[in-house]
Amino acid sequence: MTVVKILAVDDEPLILQSYLKILTSGAKDSTVRSLDALAKELLDGKPSKPSSSPWERTFAVTTVQQGEEALQAVSEAVAMGNPFAVVFIDMRMPPGIDGLETAKRMLMVDGNLEIVIVTAYSDRTRTELAEALGEARFLYIQKPFHPDELLQTAQSLSARWELAREQERLDRDKEIFARNMSHELRHPLQVVLGICDTLLSCEMEEAQRQQFIRDIHSEAQRLAELVEKLRMINQLDSEPSLEMQAVELKELTERVVRLLKPEAKKKHLQLTCEAPEDIPLVRGDESSLMQILINLVVNAIHYTETGSVCIRLTPKEHRVLVEVQDTGVGVAASEQKAIFRKFYRVPKQALKVRGHGLGLSIVQDLLQGHGSTIAVESNLGQGSCFFFDLFIA
Ligand code: ADP
Repeated sequence: MTVVKILAVDDEPLILQSYLKILTSGAKDSTVRSLDALAKELLDGKPSKPSSSPWERTFAVTTVQQGEEALQAVSEAVAMGNPFAVVFIDMRMPPGIDGLETAKRMLMVDGNLEIVIVTAYSDRTRTELAEALGEARFLYIQKPFHPDELLQTAQSLSARWELAREQERLDRDKEIFARNMSHELRHPLQVVLGICDTLLSCEMEEAQRQQFIRDIHSEAQRLAELVEKLRMINQLDSEPSLEMQAVELKELTERVVRLLKPEAKKKHLQLTCEAPEDIPLVRGDESSLMQILINLVVNAIHYTETGSVCIRLTPKEHRVLVEVQDTGVGVAASEQKAIFRKFYRVPKQALKVRGHGLGLSIVQDLLQGHGSTIAVESNLGQGSCFFFDLFIA
């Protein structure tokens, strides 16, 4: 459940009270479901997942009586990095500036705001408002408003606002990724070109020539890995094609442990698998399950300096719980949602590790195809446990 900030501006204290009542208690009273859930149901043709509350978000509502106060509240929110999403503005608010002027100035301070003009009078036409604010920049609702109309407007506009912010985050992460990638591609290329120049222009001993060739080989290998990463990004944008079958999860896990043991050994880490003898077959796509485990275990090794990494399998009713536990640097609570985003990397993490923020989003996509999802429990400085479950075949 997310909390979205809403600002209500009206010179009438009673109306401000009704905003507060409807928007902050509406979730409990109303039988109207969120527009998101309804839209999903209509588009997918199946009912959306039931949740403990029919609402995906709650509102933190601020109320003010004058346009000038509203402008100040918006500026302060922007300055504190915690902006409003939706503003409901009355049109006439004597003695101060009117709703249209307030909206115009607000958009100059925060161009992302979703504006709703609420008025009992038709003293400004819709066309006039559209000319002043931009066609897609505002909604227009009539007073007296119906509580459900107000609540649904708030829900759908905050969903649109959140979606736009999510897109902005993705664009930002993508930009950082592109910058890092071009830097990383340039470096091995420069090394290879430099060595080739030396090989071509100087006489040298055979042993030294061999060393240069080995250097070219290792740099070329790095380039190949980067190209593989780029290929994975394209894969991320298309639906993974999964061949579901009954998979020997224990055998697969032991294979991953064998494969990555040398990697763990290099850092003096213990890599183990804990599982009872009778782990049932699970339903899944074998190569995807392999990739999921590899991504999680490679991360666990990368982000752990001392101690151990353990893959644990536990049968639970119709599923098998898979946990990848490490004794590494851990992930702060505030980062535990973001790390599953494409291209996201925790800034200034205790251990410097090369990476592109793709591994976990690939895991998440692949698990989605298995009707499952990845989650993490972690304490900073103490380690992390990434876990998911799979259906028994
Ligand atoms: P990458 O590791 O290439 O950056 P991932 O998508 O695999 O990309 O991981 C995203 C971020 O999550 C990492 O940059 C790291 O900050 C954090 N992370 C992932 N696994 C772990 C772990 N086991 N311990 C601590 N942090 C982790």
